[in-house]
Amino acid sequence: MTLVAVTKTVPAELIRQAMALGLVEFGENRVQEARDKLAALGAQARQHDGHPIRWHLVGRLQRNKARHAVELFDAIHSIDSAELATELERRLANWAGGSRQRHEPRATSGEATLDVFIQVHVTGEPTKSGCRPQDTEALADVVLDCPHLRLKGLMTIPPFSHDPKHARPHFRRLAELRDTLTRAVGQPFGSMKLSMGMSGDFEVAIEEGADVIRIGTALFGERT
Ligand SMILES: *Cc1c(COP(=O)(O)O)cnc(C)c1O
Repeated sequence: MTLVAVTKTVPAELIRQAMALGLVEFGENRVQEARDKLAALGAQARQHDGHPIRWHLVGRLQRNKARHAVELFDAIHSIDSAELATELERRLANWAGGSRQRHEPRATSGEATLDVFIQVHVTGEPTKSGCRPQDTEALADVVLDCPHLRLKGLMTIPPFSHDPKHARPHFRRLAELRDTLTRAVGQPFGSMKLSMGMSGDFEVAIEEGADVIRIGTALFGERT
C-alpha cells in the first residue's frame, strides 16, 4: 500500500514537516503550484534524510503543460486520452535525447521514464474527467506502446458524497476493470495497481483492493 500525501494548498514548510515524519510520496493537482513548491523546497524536494521523495500529479493535465509535468513528476494519475499519453511520450523522448542537462533530473534516478495511471470514470458520464470504461483497453495499448511510459494501473475519483458507502460500487467496478484489462493487454497478474481512495472514503477503497490512496485533508486539515 502506498500513501500519497496530497499537498495542494499546503505550504512548503508543512511539507518539510511531513517529510521529517517519514512521508516520501506527495501529490499535487496543479502543475504551476507544484513548480513553485518544488522550487521552494529546493534539493529537499527530491530527497529527504537519504530517502528519495516522489511527486505524483493527481489532478487533470492539459497537454500544453506536458513539458513541465515530465520535469516535475514521477507519476501521473490522470491519463485520460491517447493524445495526452503521446504528448508525454514525445516530451520524455526529447528530454532523454540530449536536452536533459537543461532540467533537473526527476527523483527516481534521473531516468526519463514516467509512471502513469489511466484515470477512468467508471459510470462513463462524458462530462467527467477520466476515460470511459469501454475506452480503457485502447488507451492502455497506446500507453504500452510508449517506451518512456510505465503503465502502473488505473485511477478513479468517485462522484462526491458524504457517505463513503456510495463510493464502494465505483471502487469495485475499477477493480473488475483492472482484472479484465490485465488479461486483455497481456500484463502480468498483479502488475496493475489501483489508485483509489481519498480522506472521506479510503477505508472503503482499501476494502475494495486499493494499492495507492491519495490523502489530503485527513493529514493536513481542511483546505481553506
Ligand atoms: C485533493 C485530491 C485528493 C485528496 O483529497 P482529500 O479529500 O483532501 O483527501 C485526492 N485525489 C485527488 C485527485 C485530489 O484532487
